[in-house]
Amino acid sequence: MTGDPLYDGLLIGVLACAPIVAAVLLCVAAPYGRHERRGWGPGIPTRPAWILMEAPASLGFAAWYLGGPLALRPVPLVLFALWQLHYVDRAFIYPFRARVRHGGSTPLAIVISGAAFNLVNGYLNATFISTHGAHLDAAWQTDPRFLSGLVLFGLGYGLNRHSDHILRGLRRPGEAGYEVPHGGGFRFVSCPNYLGELIAWGGFALASWSLAGLAFFVFSLANLVPRAASHHRWYRQRFPDYPPRRKIIIPGLY
Ligand code: NDP
Repeated sequence: MTGDPLYDGLLIGVLACAPIVAAVLLCVAAPYGRHERRGWGPGIPTRPAWILMEAPASLGFAAWYLGGPLALRPVPLVLFALWQLHYVDRAFIYPFRARVRHGGSTPLAIVISGAAFNLVNGYLNATFISTHGAHLDAAWQTDPRFLSGLVLFGLGYGLNRHSDHILRGLRRPGEAGYEVPHGGGFRFVSCPNYLGELIAWGGFALASWSLAGLAFFVFSLANLVPRAASHHRWYRQRFPDYPPRRKIIIPGLY
């Protein structure tokens, strides 16, 4: 905790919301992508929806980070670079590369809640790193938590990107169908892109050694594990020959 009531309140709020989000998403799949369905209010097309949801994570983080007194230190700069490596792509490149379905849309309520979360999450992590992270000094550069966190981030980032690349290859431009993905992490689990995302943010939390990073990791777990379970169920119902040994999101276990 930092002693700043706004910061600490938001941090507690994110941690408190995580189990509620997980419980809801275990019962109801978030209605976008393959789980898109009517009855969730007005929607906006998939590409702008992604940009509106994810841009605050990149831009908000940058604004709060650059206002902090530790912003020019090497370790905070490395963490800033990792964050932007992920979110500049997710907000401004991924939406144009993904093979989105023509006519697909995302409910406005999801776009607003996703953008709000990304804004709060960006504020918590950026402010911690460039204002409250006094331990992120020169000595931290050789700390095993920092180094192993960087390795984990790299592994997770690679798995996430490679898995998204395999998914992109399942559709030609303009196509809208679904196929069983094969290769890479899909040999083991139905959602290696989500697994990669979780490993990356677990690594980020370790490297920054912060409650903000931990809260983001926990919230991502709450969001992505139930969604992976919904995807897995959907694959099994739709494809009778779906690989029987493939797990949901943790190889060999779940
Ligand atoms: P999905 O795996 O559901 O979909 C990714 C893309 O691949 C979509 O364009 C989807 O099309 C397409 N696709 C998926 N499966 C198939 C298939 N079997 N055949 C053909 N095309 C397929 O991921 P999300 O859209 O939920 O998420 C995208 C990225 O954002 C992921 O990398 C994820 O990790 C990240 N993310 C992170 C979150 C976090 O909390 N940190 C939260 C949500 C996402 P369509 O949309 O038409 O189904």
